[in-house]
Amino acid sequence: MRLVPILILATALALGAEEHPAQPAKAKAPAHAADMPNSPGAALTELGAGNARFVAGKRVRTLDTGHDAAMRAALTGGQAPFAVVITCSDSRVPDALLFDQEAGRLFTIREAGNAPDTQGIASVEYAVEHLGSKLVVLMGHSSCGAVKAVREAHGQPLPGNLWSLQAGMAGLLESTPQAPNEDAKAHGARLEEANARRQAQAMLDRSTLLRDLTVAGKLWVVPAVYNLASGKVQFFKPISVMPAPQAHH
Ligand SMILES: [Zn+2]
Repeated sequence: MRLVPILILATALALGAEEHPAQPAKAKAPAHAADMPNSPGAALTELGAGNARFVAGKRVRTLDTGHDAAMRAALTGGQAPFAVVITCSDSRVPDALLFDQEAGRLFTIREAGNAPDTQGIASVEYAVEHLGSKLVVLMGHSSCGAVKAVREAHGQPLPGNLWSLQAGMAGLLESTPQAPNEDAKAHGARLEEANARRQAQAMLDRSTLLRDLTVAGKLWVVPAVYNLASGKVQFFKPISVMPAPQAHH
């Protein structure tokens, strides 16, 4: 009987000696506001690092279950999520896990097709204005069923309320037509990226608050695509915004 824990310990040491310098027992206490990235660039670096841990199978923050009670207690006083993630409702896109971020760190809006409507944009404004989020990631993903449905409808109305998905992606198909000899999968992948970029731009076009903060360099809006197979998130350049012209009245 006593052999078992010894064997497990020996195996763990052998496996972990080189690649896991920080053992779970030494993991930091859960994050509070003081632990948050305090600039758009630092926020993006943090998400990139968390995603790299996820890809490598070395999540830390979301494996730190020994601190769950302390995490909840620390968060009862408020929240200061450093980033907003707008992504698809697809069950294969678990944003907190794939960025390895525990409760209190990401403010998330998920809707099929990651095409935020007015309430979605309002949610982003709330997080940025009242909670101090420094980064908005608008993240599509590979094999997106919503993009596929819109693509295959060819402009014909989808049933039920799905027409609103098409409305949310209006102009996507025209912006990114299928190339000669391009198969459906390749075209779909280009549409997924184009949709992320276009939704990020459209959100800024619809929000004076987000535009002003972006012009001031206090906020980055970054399109991204998550790859279901590799687990990797590809971030694109932050959307750049020209200062607004003087209002007419
Ligand atoms: Zn999707």
